[in-house]
Amino acid sequence: AKVSNRGGVLQFDRYSLEQAKGRLELLKNLRAAFDQEQLFLMYQPKIDIQTGNTIGVEALVRWPLPNGDLVSPGVFIPLAEQSGLIIRLGEWILRTALTELRSLNENGWPRLEMGVNLSVAQLQHPALMDMLKAVLSDTGVDPSSVDLEITESIAMRDMERKSQLISEIKALGFKVSVDDFGTGFSSLNYLQKMPVDCLKIDQTFVHAVNEGNGRDIVELIVTLGRKLNMRVIAEGVETEAQANTVSELGCDEVQGYFFAHPMTREQLHDWLATRSH
Ligand code: C2E
Ligand code: CA
Ligand code: CA
Ligand code: CA
Repeated sequence: AKVSNRGGVLQFDRYSLEQAKGRLELLKNLRAAFDQEQLFLMYQPKIDIQTGNTIGVEALVRWPLPNGDLVSPGVFIPLAEQSGLIIRLGEWILRTALTELRSLNENGWPRLEMGVNLSVAQLQHPALMDMLKAVLSDTGVDPSSVDLEITESIAMRDMERKSQLISEIKALGFKVSVDDFGTGFSSLNYLQKMPVDCLKIDQTFVHAVNEGNGRDIVELIVTLGRKLNMRVIAEGVETEAQANTVSELGCDEVQGYFFAHPMTREQLHDWLATRSH
C-alpha cells in the first residue's frame, strides 16, 4: 500500500486486498528469516573529512532472500515497525552491533565508534531504557562510543516526552544523532528542544550540493549545527565534487559510496587494515 502523510493524516491510496496480502506474506517471511538468524549487519565507515581518519561505522541491517537478493531495510523496517517486530529485531541489531564494536575496540581499533539506527517505535517502547542498559552491561562497551541515530517522524509528536527520553539515553552515556536532517519533521523547534550531539544532513541535500541553491542549504545546516555545538555529518557523498564542497563548507564527517560502501564484518576488517587511525 502506498501510504502518504498529509497534514498529519495517514492516507491510503488505492489500498487493495492484494497489497494487504502481499504485506502479510512479506511479514511472515521476515519473521521466519529473523527467527532463523538469517538477518545480518553491514557496516559503512564514517570518515573525518579533515584528517581522513575513520571515526566509526554505521550498522545497517540486511535481509538476504534464498536466491541471494537482499531486501532493502527501507522496505522491511517500516513493516517491522508496524507489526511490533522492531522491538525484538532492534534489540538484536543493537546487541550484534555492540558485540562487533567490542571486538573491533579490542583488536586494534580502540576508539572506533558504532552508529546504530533507533526507530521511533523503539523509542516509544516502555522497556527501551531497560533494553539499552541490558545490552550495555552484556556487551561491556563504552556507551560514549555508541551513536544512536534517530530519524524525526510524525509518529512521535510529543516533543516534551521525546526530549526527556533523549536526555535519559544521554544520561546512560550514549551519543545521539538526528538522522535525515532537513527532511520530514525535523524542525528548528525540534533542534532547540532536543539535546542531540550530531546532525546528519540528509542525502538529498548532499546529492544536490553543487546544483542550484544546494550549496547555500548545506552551508546553512552546517552553520546551524556549529551554533548549536553539534557535529555535522554529510551522508550519501557519491562524488569527489560533493566531497570537496561539503569539506569546504565545514562538515566534520562524511559517509557515502565515494568513500566506502556498506560492508560485511569480514570486508570491514580488511578495509580497516588498509586505513590510518
Ligand atoms: P539511513 O539510516 O539514512 O541509512 C543510509 C542509507 O543510505 C543506507 O541505506 C546506505 O546503504 C545508503 N547509502 C550510503 N551511502 C550512500 C551513497 O553514497 N549514495 C546512496 N544513494 N545511498 C547511500 P540502507 O542500508 O538501504 O538503509 C535504508 C534505511 O533503512 C536507513 O536509512 C535506515 O533508515 C533504515 N535502516 C537500515 N538499517 C537499520 C537498522 O538497523 N535499524 C533501523 N531502525 N533502521 C535501519
Ligand atoms: Ca542512519
Ligand atoms: Ca540518513
Ligand atoms: Ca532514513
